[in-house]
Amino acid sequence: MAETDIRPTNFIRQIIDKDLAEGVHDHVHTRFPPEPNGYLHIGHAKSICLNFGLAQDYQGQCNLRFDDTNPEKENIDYVNSIQSDVKWLGFSWDGEICYSSDYFERLHGYAVELIEKGLAYVDFSSQEAMRELRGTLKEPGKNSPYRDTSVAENLAHFAKMTAGEYAEGHCVLRAKIDMASPFMCMRDPVIYRVKFAHHHQTGDKWCVYPMYDFTHCISDAIEGITHSLCTLEFQDNRRLYDWVLDNISIECRPRQYEFSRLNLEYTVLSKRKLIQLVDEKHVDGWDDPRMPTIAGLRRRGYTPASVREFCKRIGVTKMDNMVEMGMLEACIRDDLNQNAARAMAVLDPLKVVIENYPADQVETLSAPNHPSDESMGSRDIPFTREIYIEREDFREEANKKFKRLVLGKEVRLRNAYFLKAERVEKDAEGNITTLYCTYDPDTLGKDPADGRKAKGVIHWVSASHGVPAEVRLYDRLFKVPNPAGEENFTDSINAESLTVVQGILEPSLVSAEPGKALQFERLGYFCKDKQADKLVFNRTVGLRDTWAKIEGQE
Ligand code: ATP
Ligand code: MG
Repeated sequence: MAETDIRPTNFIRQIIDKDLAEGVHDHVHTRFPPEPNGYLHIGHAKSICLNFGLAQDYQGQCNLRFDDTNPEKENIDYVNSIQSDVKWLGFSWDGEICYSSDYFERLHGYAVELIEKGLAYVDFSSQEAMRELRGTLKEPGKNSPYRDTSVAENLAHFAKMTAGEYAEGHCVLRAKIDMASPFMCMRDPVIYRVKFAHHHQTGDKWCVYPMYDFTHCISDAIEGITHSLCTLEFQDNRRLYDWVLDNISIECRPRQYEFSRLNLEYTVLSKRKLIQLVDEKHVDGWDDPRMPTIAGLRRRGYTPASVREFCKRIGVTKMDNMVEMGMLEACIRDDLNQNAARAMAVLDPLKVVIENYPADQVETLSAPNHPSDESMGSRDIPFTREIYIEREDFREEANKKFKRLVLGKEVRLRNAYFLKAERVEKDAEGNITTLYCTYDPDTLGKDPADGRKAKGVIHWVSASHGVPAEVRLYDRLFKVPNPAGEENFTDSINAESLTVVQGILEPSLVSAEPGKALQFERLGYFCKDKQADKLVFNRTVGLRDTWAKIEGQE
């Protein structure tokens, strides 16, 4: 798509420009550090575009690092999905993939260094006692009775922890910082705990695992990261990030900068909540097209360029905000309007018999794949005596505003002829079962010689050649703009987030590429589902922002 190529400026770029100008750094090295405990979502895309985008723009480097210090919640399926999502977004990491677990040996060494310097101690207090002593935001904490254990004893205890001689929860290693600090994270934070868990990278080698705050800064320093970008909730933790690096023997000195996370209306962007949606089967897996995951967006028909463009449009600031879903939809709509091939499908079929058309004739008409881009070529569509049109495109009577088919009046069939409605056939309940029409053979690709005008243009599909397919129409997954703010977010799930209809498609759509959206003329953008056992199309997005209109009326 036409991704806007104005290079956005933001406070992080200003920091980098200053660092480069003042010689603090002579290059830029960032990292994207997902924890492999879920699939990536659109919020991660913001972080990916920022980190990889900066590396690209400054001819620097960006690492992909799995922050894998919680083996119980992580697995290899997540590791693999994250790699494929980053690649799909159009980015590639520099060098080998990194894992925090690659540094377990060195991290352990730095923990020992802190103990040797009298800056860490093994605490055997119960969790409850530790919580009591931690204090509150208003009151300072109190020192643990284990705080003044000798260095030699601490070294022995940590060695025993490492050797698996202490049970889980029996003791932890804490940094000795300041129990009276106004920053809770500085009140002797835990830096190592015992966990007898199998790790997807290191197997059963370790039974002590380092905590995030201890691991992250050291991993950054080991990899030579210059600018370590994370979201605002880590603002206070920057003190701990700096404290650890200030107190161990490591040369490189990365700095942490925080930006606001992406919040998107009518969805949730927290892996914990997304896991719940999947586990409780509110959705059909991580890549359900209603999910805000990269995998879901891809299956829905979003393009990588549209997601990158979205990240560009939302920008990077320190302000907490909630982005409208319409903004994401506008990005995919702009892309597909320009790049998606056109095709015809009828989602609520009404049978039409063209009485003056020979019963066994099949005409092959040619239709352009794009109204304004000839390079996209054209395709053949069969025209026959019986066709389907959209039920809502016909009325027995209507006022002048109805620019579609009315009894006794004419419309143009898209890519074909003028069609005139003659009479209807109804069932016992009065529903129209068949519409009988006539066509004007002299109107293919030209207006009638006598100057008659059609009331409008409608789409259609040959009844004998059309292909039935399941079409899935998606709506927002939640009924409220901020489901995360509800007491129980799953209560606000939109029960009508998926409507399934049986449509009839023009035959060319059978060979459509899965995941690649096309425009069903007058209906919206749709893509073939990857599902192999039957023909299914997913609606990517409608043609217009009907949601904005509804909200405007309220
Ligand atoms: P979640 O809250 O969904 O569990 P997380 O922050 O725990 O997310 P990580 O795997 O640790 O997930 O995230 C990897 C990177 O992506 C981090 O640098 C994190 O700050 C960033 N990130 C996660 N969610 C968002 C978001 N909504 N907006 C911007 N960046 C995000
Ligand atoms: Mg995290």
